[in-house]
Amino acid sequence: MWRSAGYRCFGPKGLLGYLAVRTFSAPALPAGRITALQAMDFWKRHFVERGVTEPDHSSHYILAYLLGAKTIESLEQRKLTEFLSPEKTEQMWKLCSRRLSRMPVQYVIEEWDFRDLTLKMRPPVFIPRPETEELVELVLTDLQMKSGTGVGADNQHTCLEVGCGSGAISLSLLKSLPQLKAIAVDQSQAAVDLTGENALRLGLQDRLQIHHLDVMKEAETVLSLSSSVSVLVSNPPYLFSEDMTTLEPEIFWFEDHAALDGGNDGLKVIKQILTLAPQILSDHGHVYLEVDPRHPPLIQRWVEANVEDMHYVETRHDICGRPRFCILQREESNRDHKLDLD
Ligand code: GLN
Repeated sequence: MWRSAGYRCFGPKGLLGYLAVRTFSAPALPAGRITALQAMDFWKRHFVERGVTEPDHSSHYILAYLLGAKTIESLEQRKLTEFLSPEKTEQMWKLCSRRLSRMPVQYVIEEWDFRDLTLKMRPPVFIPRPETEELVELVLTDLQMKSGTGVGADNQHTCLEVGCGSGAISLSLLKSLPQLKAIAVDQSQAAVDLTGENALRLGLQDRLQIHHLDVMKEAETVLSLSSSVSVLVSNPPYLFSEDMTTLEPEIFWFEDHAALDGGNDGLKVIKQILTLAPQILSDHGHVYLEVDPRHPPLIQRWVEANVEDMHYVETRHDICGRPRFCILQREESNRDHKLDLD
């Protein structure tokens, strides 16, 4: 059974409402022995009292992790009604106290599932969201079609990911497509390191190049690394700067703001990616972007006015019905066209 948590989306109260609770004190360890279920229940109630979001999920996933499972449902009933050892009790208190400080549960247990992968998580590297799994689906469908099976099918494709974070997108694509090669870049050394660690754990390191690069400042280097890629994919920082203060404390306090804040209109990195795209992509290569629901018409208009050789193909919606993904394609440039005719 897959893990999922929802507090990572925008919170209704905004950050300011939480500032007062930043200082917290953890409850004392229980005097006597307690069962796993009692510990889970205790923490669930404590999280509720202290206004910690997702109290159920949080205590559930922390206990399951301590007992060596992903979910409580996958554990034998007996394990839940047994007394916890003093060490496990202490660990439960330690991990739950971290959650009490509003650390995301993914960082507390140091791992999370993304599609069919379990990835190592570490602050402040961006935690992959469920909608990004849908972005991967879109890219997979495209690459599967591009690879084809018939005569002349070209199976050698390379994908470039801008802003790889924990490596979720690139590693999922590599896992599903054994012929694919990927180049992943991120402006954060912590992200580059974590992607590398995750690639190694999954045995996917041979087909992945990872570079510590800032696409805003080192465009030339990005271009020199990647020409003729079939797919350029990114879940870039796309929040409008003014929305940063409405984030849940889990996000605002613990995740890298550089992975979230897309500038005044949320389009700073997106515009840079699209400006570089024609030089990075092979003919008919695609760009797949995860964006804010307000972005798709803005992006379409901006590309039409500013980027030659890129065509806005379509907007796709996420599972909640929000316009969330932009698909663009590189058109054959006039220059290439002339060469073809020679
Ligand atoms: N969807 C993310 C959030 O709500 C933002 C992701 C991003 O900026 N790439 O926190």
